[in-house]
Amino acid sequence: MIDFEEMLRCKAEATPAPEDYEGEDGLLYCGKCHTPKQFRMSAPPMEGRLIRCPCQCEQERRQRADAEREAQRHAQAVEDLMRRGFTDAAMRTWTFANDNGKCPQMKHARFFVEHWETMKAENIGYLLWGDVGTGKSFFAGCIANALMEREISVCMTNFAAVLNDLAASYEGRNEYIARLCRAELLIVDDFGVERGTEYGLEQVYNVIDSRYRSGKPLIVTTNLPLNDLRHPQDTAHARIYDRLLAMCAPIRFTGENFRALTAQDKLARLKNLMN
Ligand SMILES: [Zn+2]
Repeated sequence: MIDFEEMLRCKAEATPAPEDYEGEDGLLYCGKCHTPKQFRMSAPPMEGRLIRCPCQCEQERRQRADAEREAQRHAQAVEDLMRRGFTDAAMRTWTFANDNGKCPQMKHARFFVEHWETMKAENIGYLLWGDVGTGKSFFAGCIANALMEREISVCMTNFAAVLNDLAASYEGRNEYIARLCRAELLIVDDFGVERGTEYGLEQVYNVIDSRYRSGKPLIVTTNLPLNDLRHPQDTAHARIYDRLLAMCAPIRFTGENFRALTAQDKLARLKNLMN
C-alpha cells in the first residue's frame, strides 16, 4: 500500500523553506528551530548519503496534529455513547463536576468508577434505595457519565421505559433485552415492581435475569425499603429480588431531600436577586 499522505509530507519536507540553511556539518537545518532536517547514513550500502528527517518544530507539529485527531476521535466516541446510552438528555448533567457535595453516599459512586475493572470482573453493582429525592438517580448518572468519558458503554434507563419498549416491540423483545445486556454497565432507575402486573413482573424478571446471566454489572435505584426486598410477598417477587440482591450491593440514601434542597437553593437565589 502506498501511503499518499506520507508521500506528500516527504515531498513538502524535501523542499527547503527560505529560512533553512546548511550547517557546518553539511546538513540542512531548519531556520525556525535550528535543528537538522537531514541526517547522514553511517553504514553501508548508503554510507554518507543524506536522508530527510523532521526537524524539532515539525515533530512537534505532527504530535499536536495527532493529539488533536485523538481528541476529536475521543469526543465523538463519548458523544456516540451518550446519545445511545442515555434515555434523557438531562442525564448528561448528572456529573461529579455538578455534585453539590451534600450527598454523603457520593464516595461510593467515586469508588465504583475508580474500581470499575474490579466491579466488572466480579459483577458487582449497586442497589440504591431510600426515600424519593435523596439523589439516587444523580448518583447513578455520575457513574454513567464518568465511565462513558472513559469510553465504556453504559445504558441508563428506567423500568417504565423498559416496560413500554417491551410492550411496543413484541417481535424485537429478545433483541431489545440483548441490547440492554450488551452495555458494559446497565443502570435501571426507579425499580418498583410492587405496582406491577403479572405481565410486568415477568418482563422485569426477564431483564434482570438476562442481565444476571450476562455476567455484567447492574445498578438499580428504588424507593422500596430494603426490608421489602429481603422479605418478598410472593415467589414472583422473590425470584426478582433474589437476583437483584445477588448482583447489587445495597446502599441506603437518607437525609436531606435533594429536590427540596434545590427548590430552597432557588428560593434563596431568587431572594438574593430581589435584594
Ligand atoms: Zn524546525
